[in-house]
Amino acid sequence: MSSRTLIIAANWKMNKGPQETSDFLNAFIPKLDGFTGSADIVIAPPFISIPTAVGTLGGHSSVAVSAQNVSDKDNGAFTGEVSTDMLKELHVEYVILGHSERRSIYDETDAIINAKVKKTIAAGLKPIFCIGETLEEREGGKLESVLRTQITEGLKDVSDADLANVVIAYEPVWAIGTGVTATAEQAQDTHKFVRSVIADLYNTTAAEAIRIQYGGSVKPANAAELLGQPDIDGALVGGAALDPDSFFGILENS
Ligand code: PGA
Repeated sequence: MSSRTLIIAANWKMNKGPQETSDFLNAFIPKLDGFTGSADIVIAPPFISIPTAVGTLGGHSSVAVSAQNVSDKDNGAFTGEVSTDMLKELHVEYVILGHSERRSIYDETDAIINAKVKKTIAAGLKPIFCIGETLEEREGGKLESVLRTQITEGLKDVSDADLANVVIAYEPVWAIGTGVTATAEQAQDTHKFVRSVIADLYNTTAAEAIRIQYGGSVKPANAAELLGQPDIDGALVGGAALDPDSFFGILENS
């Protein structure tokens, strides 16, 4: 067992407006009284539901709020964007960056993601920095080179000290929303590789300290096996985090 604290995060994607956010949290919060684990718990609603999430959670400091994206720009003439200052005003703690849906659907490059990672850190927020390969890349023997590039470029110019505030989420693209999970062995091997890349880029102390979440069809039934692996330090959960019983079921298996 490592000394790293598990981090279990709900990525709601484009689901749950303010009403559904308050319904979820009003059902979820009472369950936490029965939670005996020590995992950090994070909820990432859409921007528009963040004020409701923060308000409904008031007093429940055991649950942190995350955004699902942020601008790399300061405030100003950037129509449709949300700044780190705005998230800070709402006491948001984390920002999911580099999710494969942002990379593939919205063409976010490693350079854009790196700019957002640096902006997030500079604002005192914590990036949940996502990486992951497609099935084609894995089957074509490119797993390690793809991940190494994503990590090297995405964390470019992030100092040792700042890395302490970064969480990495390894999400194989072929396992996201598909019901197909990486086996615990595949996930463990890849997490170990990711940690070795951090050791190469930084040092072994940083590699041992950084938390690496697994994401991709995590559910209550497979959480215990995945989270029991030595290099898996939590989960980034999409579909199974939309229902309070199922998200709590994952926590119970952590
Ligand atoms: P999933 O999504 O759990 O629905 O596979 C995970 C994610 O995209 O973060």
